[in-house]
Amino acid sequence: MNEQELKQKLTPEEYHVLREKGTEAPFSGKLLHEKKSGTYMCKVCSSPLFPSTAKFDSGTGWPSFDQALPGAVKEIIDQSHGMQRIEVVCAKCGSHLGHVFNDGPTVTGKRYCLNSVCLDLNPEENKK
Ligand SMILES: [Zn+2]
Repeated sequence: MNEQELKQKLTPEEYHVLREKGTEAPFSGKLLHEKKSGTYMCKVCSSPLFPSTAKFDSGTGWPSFDQALPGAVKEIIDQSHGMQRIEVVCAKCGSHLGHVFNDGPTVTGKRYCLNSVCLDLNPEENKK
């Protein structure tokens, strides 16, 4: 899918965050309080990225995870806005997802701070 097709597939906000490294407004994302189990996938390429078991409430206003699926994301040093942060992108299509910080409250010590608009939840079917 080329950029023109992506522009048509995504909303303007989704396109801005995913492809132009934007940030959605805190507490605005639809996945912030999502509690269903399943797998969070890349909005652009549907690659599985984060398990719902890694999701936690960080209080920051963005959906937060303490680990990614193995090899699912790439971490890139981001020195924009006068800060040094680590940007998280989809390993498959390179779309921007958010940032990762080393102040996570769980055993992994990681806090992946992501934008809801970058993710789609693929809910686990009820297996009972
Ligand atoms: Zn992707």
